[in-house]
Amino acid sequence: MPPSFPMPMNSQPPRMLRLKDGLKDGLGRAITYLRISVTEQCNLACVYCKPRTGAQERAEPPAMSRNELVQIAQVFTSLGIRKVRLTGGEPLMRRDLETIVAGISPEVEGRVHLTTNGIHLARRARGLRDAGLCGVNVSLDAAERGSFERLTRKDGLSRVLAGIEAARSAGLKTKLNAVVLKGWNEDQIVPLARLAQTEGIQVRFIEFMPYQDNGWGRDQFMPAGEILRIAQEGLGTSLEEEPVVGLEEGPARIFKLAGSEGKVGVISTLSADFCDRCNRVRLTSRGELKACLFGNKPVDLLEPLRNHASHEDLARLVRQALTEKLDCHPMRRGEAPVLSSGMWQVGG
Ligand code: SAM
Repeated sequence: MPPSFPMPMNSQPPRMLRLKDGLKDGLGRAITYLRISVTEQCNLACVYCKPRTGAQERAEPPAMSRNELVQIAQVFTSLGIRKVRLTGGEPLMRRDLETIVAGISPEVEGRVHLTTNGIHLARRARGLRDAGLCGVNVSLDAAERGSFERLTRKDGLSRVLAGIEAARSAGLKTKLNAVVLKGWNEDQIVPLARLAQTEGIQVRFIEFMPYQDNGWGRDQFMPAGEILRIAQEGLGTSLEEEPVVGLEEGPARIFKLAGSEGKVGVISTLSADFCDRCNRVRLTSRGELKACLFGNKPVDLLEPLRNHASHEDLARLVRQALTEKLDCHPMRRGEAPVLSSGMWQVGG
């Protein structure tokens, strides 16, 4: 039985608000995918995500409570969001994650997914599935222990592998995501692709996104084409590309691996131009709506909620923010990418 979600009677979302045309931004793009960061806390300290120097965790205000989080999520789903991904920080740091999943899952017909580093996944996978979780993306940037430790500053590879196994045996759709940083883990592309081949799982290599203030630059950037070439040469086999199915996870190209159910993919977050088909928005753990990862000022939804704004008031704020969603990432205009908060705060 999924844990029941305590919802005060007077805050039931008015379902008739679910608009026929769905949620559109100012440029007419259909917005169907919401990523929610449920916490800023993380139990890893990946070198490229949470640099030791520079940005500090903001101390106040605290993250949304689970009631607040679900209420705000319901505003989005009532407007037309059809898929939700919970991220962080590390979402499994929240003990009430199962309850949050149970609160959101019926609103999107079960399409709630999780992005996690997998450290605590082994003991949570079944409970999350029972709560209504549909799939898990496990972030794994290295298949070898030393490399894992160098990147995450922790020794946790065997726990992550156990988490992946548990998620799969719980019946959760499970994929691996690996960010590739030149000079750090390009030597892990082939071991990760082999892991995909032997385990019959999908691993997607993601282009590293350098941005101002995280202490990392374009020198670490490796384009998807080069990642693919390394994978192909290392595996010693040509890769057969699958037809493109959608953009919900970004502009992914997926390739079958010979003699296996496994697949490798590349997600060109920077080298491919997909902003004109962008369908996503983000909600930070502090209840701020980010219409574009690198652009658009965050719009606070939490304070109005705490000041008793109605569901309709919040829906108006969301719609207004989306009329201003940028046409493209600032770097496409040659401007430096700036994140007003760290990637671990926005949720990737
Ligand atoms: N802790 C969870 C995890 O590890 O998946 C969720 C949060 S983490 C911020 C979400 C994703 O963002 C991870 O896959 C991480 O590798 C990715 N990420 C963080 N910084 C990035 C960057 N500069 N470029 C590309 N991906 C990044």
